[in-house]
Amino acid sequence: MALAVTHIILTIAFLDIFRHYVFGLKKFPRYLLVIGGIAGLAPDLDIPLGWILTILTGNSVNVHGLFTHSIFFALLFALIGAILHYQKNLKWAKIFYVIAIGWTLHILLDCFYGMDSSKLFLWPYSILPSFCPSWDLYQYAHSTDAIILVLWLLHEEISNKIKCYF
Ligand SMILES: [Zn+2]
Repeated sequence: MALAVTHIILTIAFLDIFRHYVFGLKKFPRYLLVIGGIAGLAPDLDIPLGWILTILTGNSVNVHGLFTHSIFFALLFALIGAILHYQKNLKWAKIFYVIAIGWTLHILLDCFYGMDSSKLFLWPYSILPSFCPSWDLYQYAHSTDAIILVLWLLHEEISNKIKCYF
């Protein structure tokens, strides 16, 4: 698994590229970046859920990677987005699209980072992810965070975009 900051920053940077160069600021309001960033981390909500279940049941419970890391959720959010889009509810359609993107990026990152081959990326099918490249990037997790953050910050400064955040 990648670190929490990587999940959030990478999703925001990814969405930000589309915001600036494809859709434009008006069609892509800033709050979508916030929602996308949180969605980029959301599949890991099963970690605190495990802690809560551990406290409640008195047994060590670990549900990490059992359900929320399934591509099924990303597809479901994209489908809800498409239905809302069809109903011309653009605001909520965009919100669901952005959640689907954040969720997908999370799964891809975990796939590349390796370390835990027990995640069910295809839940409800219990197929283990032999298709993941699992490059074991986890050992570089902290440096990766720093590099992504610096590159994004430089881009924002050089292209004068950082003011969009204030
Ligand atoms: Zn994860």
